[in-house]
Amino acid sequence: MNCNPPIGFIKKEAQTTGNSKEMALLNGSSKEADEQFPLLVSDAFASRIDWSNSSDPLLLQILPTAAELQTDPAFILDPLEEAGYSIAPGIIKKYHGRAILQLTGACPIHCRYCFRRHIKGDNIPKTLAQWDESLEVIRKDPSIVEIIYSGGDPLMLPNKKFLQISNLLGEIAHIKRLRIHSRVPVASPERISLDLIKSIGNLPFTVTMVIHMNHADEMDGFVEATIASLVDAGIPIYNQSVLLKGVNDNLESLTALSEALIQARVTPYYLHLLDPVAGAAHFLVDAKTGRQLLEEMRKVLPGFAIPLLVQEIPGELAKTPI
Ligand SMILES: *Cc1c(COP(=O)(O)O)cnc(C)c1O
Ligand code: SF4
Repeated sequence: MNCNPPIGFIKKEAQTTGNSKEMALLNGSSKEADEQFPLLVSDAFASRIDWSNSSDPLLLQILPTAAELQTDPAFILDPLEEAGYSIAPGIIKKYHGRAILQLTGACPIHCRYCFRRHIKGDNIPKTLAQWDESLEVIRKDPSIVEIIYSGGDPLMLPNKKFLQISNLLGEIAHIKRLRIHSRVPVASPERISLDLIKSIGNLPFTVTMVIHMNHADEMDGFVEATIASLVDAGIPIYNQSVLLKGVNDNLESLTALSEALIQARVTPYYLHLLDPVAGAAHFLVDAKTGRQLLEEMRKVLPGFAIPLLVQEIPGELAKTPI
C-alpha cells in the first residue's frame, strides 16, 4: 500500500503514535514544496529510512523541503525538452531506433530531483483502444526496434493492462526488444508477483529491465529476492542512479551501491548528472566532482561495477559521457 497523505496528516499520525523523531523531521519539511510536488512514499521505502537521522540518504530523496522553493534560472520545468519529441499521445521518440512509451503518470514514490516532477502526463492514453490508436505511429515506422517503457512508472499499471499493451506491441514484427524502466522493484517490490514475472518472461521479445537505485540503503532482502526472481526468469537487470548532493556524492556511498548491485546480479549502467529541473538545484553535484569520484571507484571495484557517468543534453541523439 502506498501512502500519499498531506504532511499535516503525517505530523498528526506521528503525534498520535508518539514518534517524536519522525515528527521533528516532518516539521522540517515544507508545505509549499509539498503542494508543488506532493510527498509520496511507499511503505517499503519508508521502512528503510532511519528516521532518527535528518540527513538520511533515503529521506532526502522523498522529503519536500524549503530548498526546493529557491529559484534558479538555469533550473527549468522541462529540462530535457521532452514535450517537443512526442510523436503520438504517450509516445516520445528522441533516440535512434527507440521509442519511449509513457504508460502512466503514477509513481511508487516521488523523488524530489525527478526531471519529470512538473509534467502532469495528461496526454497519456487511458484505454486500450486509445493505446491501440497511438501505437499506429510505431506500426508504421520499422526503424523503431526497441520500446522503452517509462513513466511515471510502467509497473504502477495494473498487471492486466500492462500485459494487454505489451501484447499489442508483440504483434508488431519489427519490435525486437522491450526495456522496462522502473523504480517499483526498489520502492514497491510487493507489486511484482511471480505471475507477472512469468508473463513478462513470456513476451515475444527480449526484455530487459532498468531499475533506479541511488543508495545501498535502498536494498533490502525483499528487493534482493524480487531482483533474483526477475534475473532467474531470464530478464537482465541494469541500474541507473542520479548523482545527488547529500545522498550519494561520496566514494563510500557509490562504492557500497555498486557492491550491493553486483551482489544482487544487477549491472550498474548510468550514473546521471542531475537534470536541471526547477526545485532540485540543491541536489547538484558538478561534473568535475563526478569524474573524480568515478576515478576513485575504478581503483577499488571491478570494471563491471563502474557505471558510466553521463548527462542528458537536449537535442543530442544519446546520453553524453562526462
Ligand atoms: C536516456 C534515456 C533513455 C534511453 O536510454 P539508453 O539506455 O541510452 O538507450 C530512455 N528514457 C529516458 C527517460 C532517458 O533519459
Ligand atoms: S519517474 Fe522515477 S524518478 Fe521520477 S518520481 Fe517517478 S519514480 Fe521517481
